[in-house]
Amino acid sequence: MLSLRAGLFAGFSLLLALAAGCAADPSADDEDADMEEEAGQTEDPLSVPAATGPLRFADACRPGTKVTIAAVGDVLLHSPLQRQAYTSPEGFSSLWKGVQPLFARADLSYANLEGPCADGHTASGTARDPGRVFDGAVYSSYPQFNYHPSLIGALKDAGFDVVSTANNHALDRRGRGADRTIENLVSAGMPFTGTRSTADLEAPWHAMTEANGVKIAWLACTYSTNGIPDPKKQVLDCYKDRSTVLSTITALKDDPGVDAVVVTPHWGVEYAHSPSAPEKKLARDMLDAGATAVLGGHPHVVQPWEKYTTTDGREGFVLYSLGNFVSGQNGLARRSALVLYLGLTKGADGKVTVNGVRHAPIQMSPTPWTATYARGESLALTTRILGEWNRIGPDEDLVTNPECQ
Ligand SMILES: [Zn+2]
Repeated sequence: MLSLRAGLFAGFSLLLALAAGCAADPSADDEDADMEEEAGQTEDPLSVPAATGPLRFADACRPGTKVTIAAVGDVLLHSPLQRQAYTSPEGFSSLWKGVQPLFARADLSYANLEGPCADGHTASGTARDPGRVFDGAVYSSYPQFNYHPSLIGALKDAGFDVVSTANNHALDRRGRGADRTIENLVSAGMPFTGTRSTADLEAPWHAMTEANGVKIAWLACTYSTNGIPDPKKQVLDCYKDRSTVLSTITALKDDPGVDAVVVTPHWGVEYAHSPSAPEKKLARDMLDAGATAVLGGHPHVVQPWEKYTTTDGREGFVLYSLGNFVSGQNGLARRSALVLYLGLTKGADGKVTVNGVRHAPIQMSPTPWTATYARGESLALTTRILGEWNRIGPDEDLVTNPECQ
């Protein structure tokens, strides 16, 4: 029923988009049309779950060393965003400068890098690199993305400390593009998780970060690579490699050099505001295996969060979907997301627990494309899903456990 309705909307809005594209913007290309294809669905308030109350944690006020993580969803750069980044004096930061202070106040920041950064690679092979130019061949948009590798340095400059590379666009430039992306991540000094290079197929799937002396392991996986084969096993699959995912989490939890494990699965039903049963089951299995938190993505819209008491009595945290961070997708729900703040405390016993979570609602606006702290309907939508109590203002002091102050 839902997919039929979505299909009708998609077909209708594609016609509209094609017509509008021809009339309004002679440079509009197939990527723009495909981006527009996803417009047109109106938000049914009944399909958007509402938070039932504050989300607080039993260990909120436990003394110890605190670390606060800022996490955002997909860096998914449709053609207008790439064109802006390649021509603006501010480059990629023009897309997120409006929310950069929201990362600066956290100890660590995470994003999902949705697509390769593989200079000189087209979907079918290699080609002369055009430089910072959207040519639709080396640097391209939907359905197969590729970004100029200067994106990685721009994310680092914005304060990001770790990215996920396991997502359905990981192989948009095939295995060689994944290799080239990893070379660029390594040379930029950006930790990444969820993919590995054919030059080192024994490399660990996880990344490590350290803040305030607390060592956090990050593990990403994806539900799919959009049907593109992965013959060398370069991308960690959340479901086909489920046993590897869970055993890796447990090994990291048991590693004396790791204080906490954060898992970032790329999963779920696109444009659905509620997690499906397989995600719920896998999230709980990940937490039971030893993860402290599970931060999901891919549906392009925000999904709820919850805490879950594990079989060994820990309070774990799941946010099923962070939504888009920066993308060209249309519609209120796809332009509304959040910066998630996850507060952790490492006690004198060495154990790390969640002390609280907050959300800073953000929205993406076009021309110039930029993310800002959300307003109006966008603010209301994210607040409906995650609740008023846990919301944090743009200029408020970052405290993840205000009940302890
Ligand atoms: Zn995705």
